[in-house]
Amino acid sequence: MKIGSVQFFKVLIVGTAIFLVLLLLGLCIMFVFVHARQKERIALLEEENSSLHQLLEQASAVPDALLPPSLSQQSGQASSAVYDSIYPHLYARPLSVQPTNEKICYLTFDDGPSGTTRLVLDVLAEYDVSATFFVTGLASVQLPDLLREAAEAGHTVGVHSYSHDYEQIYASTQAFLADFDLMHSQVQQITGIAPGIFRFAGGSVNNYNKEIRAELTAEMLRRGFIFFDWNVAGDDAVAGEMPAEKIVSNVLEGARDLNRAIVLLHDRSDTATTAEALPAIIEGLQQQGFRFAPLTSAVVPVIHPS
Ligand code: ZN
Repeated sequence: MKIGSVQFFKVLIVGTAIFLVLLLLGLCIMFVFVHARQKERIALLEEENSSLHQLLEQASAVPDALLPPSLSQQSGQASSAVYDSIYPHLYARPLSVQPTNEKICYLTFDDGPSGTTRLVLDVLAEYDVSATFFVTGLASVQLPDLLREAAEAGHTVGVHSYSHDYEQIYASTQAFLADFDLMHSQVQQITGIAPGIFRFAGGSVNNYNKEIRAELTAEMLRRGFIFFDWNVAGDDAVAGEMPAEKIVSNVLEGARDLNRAIVLLHDRSDTATTAEALPAIIEGLQQQGFRFAPLTSAVVPVIHPS
C-alpha cells in the first residue's frame, strides 16, 4: 500500500474513526467510574454528617429548664464556629435528665487521686456508698490504679482539670478545651469510661473565668458535657488541715434543709481529715434521711448563679 494511494486514505480514515470511537468509549467508562466513586463518597459524607447531626442534637439536649436563666439562654446558642473544627472527638451524649423528689446526697471529691484516696475508698466501701471523683492530671498519672478502682467500685470519675492551673486553663476557651481534652482522654484510658460530667476548677463562677465564662459554658454544654457546682461545702481545703469535726459540722449544717445535696469535699494529700470525717458525715446525712448516689449526666445539676 502506497502512501497517498486511495487505499492508504481509506485505512487512515477507518483507523482514525476506530481510534475516536475507542477514545470516546474510554472517556465514557472513565466518566461512569468517576461518577460512581463520587456518589459513593457523597453517600459516605452524608452518613457521617447525619450521625454528627444526631450527636449534636443529643449534645444540645441539655436540660435547659433545669439551668439558671443565664445558662439556659447560652446553651441554646451554638458557640463560635471556630470551636466546631477543633477536638472533633470531644463530645458526650448526656443521659436524659431524671428529676427526683427523694432526699438524695451526692458526695463529690475534687483534686484526686491522692495519698488520701485509699482511705476514702475504704470508708465508702464500708458504708456501701457511691460517690463522685473529679480528678486531676498529674495525680492520675501517678496513681492510675486508684482511679481504676474507684470506677470499678461504681463511683463516677469526672473531669476536673489536667493542670488545675487557673490562669492557664481560663486564659481562653481553647486553652480550657486543651486541658479538658487531656484529662478527658486520660480518664478514658485509665478507667475505660469516657467521662460525661465535670466540675470546673474553682467552680463555674470564679475570678479567673469572668471574661470567657459565658462562651466557655455554652461551648461545653454544646459538646454535651454537664457540669456540677455544689450546694454544700465541707470547707476541708480552705486553709491548712481542717479538723475532722469541723468538716462534719460544715456538711451536716449545710445539708440540713436541703432535699438534694451536692457536697464538695476534697481528695488531696493535705485533706486526710476529710477521710477521717467521712464516717460521721455519712452517718449524719443518713440520719437526716439522705440516701447516696454518684453523679451522672442524668442528675439535675446544681450551678452557681453568675
Ligand atoms: Zn480543684
